[in-house]
Amino acid sequence: MRRASIRIWNDNSVPTLWKEVAELGTTGGAASYQPNIRTVHVRVTSTTDQIRHELAHAWDHYLGGALSSLEKAKRKELERAIQRKIRLWSASDTKRAIVMYRGGVGVRKRMTVRQMYMLYKERPITRERRFGNPSTRVGYSTRSVREFFAEAYSVFFGSSRVGMARMLAFAPEVFALMEWLAGLYGLSKPDREALAKVTF
Ligand SMILES: [Zn+2]
Repeated sequence: MRRASIRIWNDNSVPTLWKEVAELGTTGGAASYQPNIRTVHVRVTSTTDQIRHELAHAWDHYLGGALSSLEKAKRKELERAIQRKIRLWSASDTKRAIVMYRGGVGVRKRMTVRQMYMLYKERPITRERRFGNPSTRVGYSTRSVREFFAEAYSVFFGSSRVGMARMLAFAPEVFALMEWLAGLYGLSKPDREALAKVTF
């Protein structure tokens, strides 16, 4: 995070780095990510799941925007950074390689995050079929591609077994994408077979 100059900050001011050049944007909700100043705003009441969701937006931004450090940046450079177009990894047209399983057999597929989102949206989605963390507002996963990605990340690396089981059942493509990301960065991943047995 330091290498990309991403900060976690309280929700009523901007980080010291941006003090002279940026104003506080909307920090609505329990926590929020303000991409132009690379800041995750939190409150004392923010839950771990909410913070993880916002960190996922920051991660999405980092991967898509090739963010470099601004620790030694001059004022001009900071001003340019604020104006920069926000590029998200989840919004890219690049197809991601995932492994889907059918009857225990892995099949390689390639698709964009948007295609994963569209497949999820095309399935009959009732309240019970949406994945999400218990403390996150219901419906994040169906709001937009970026929210779908952030909530998938938050659930996959969180602790809600029901949320993970629903994602595996109704959005298996993004579940597979999270498995790939976990493998890439050496993070632990939930066990598919155990999740398939969870009732929800
Ligand atoms: Zn969000």
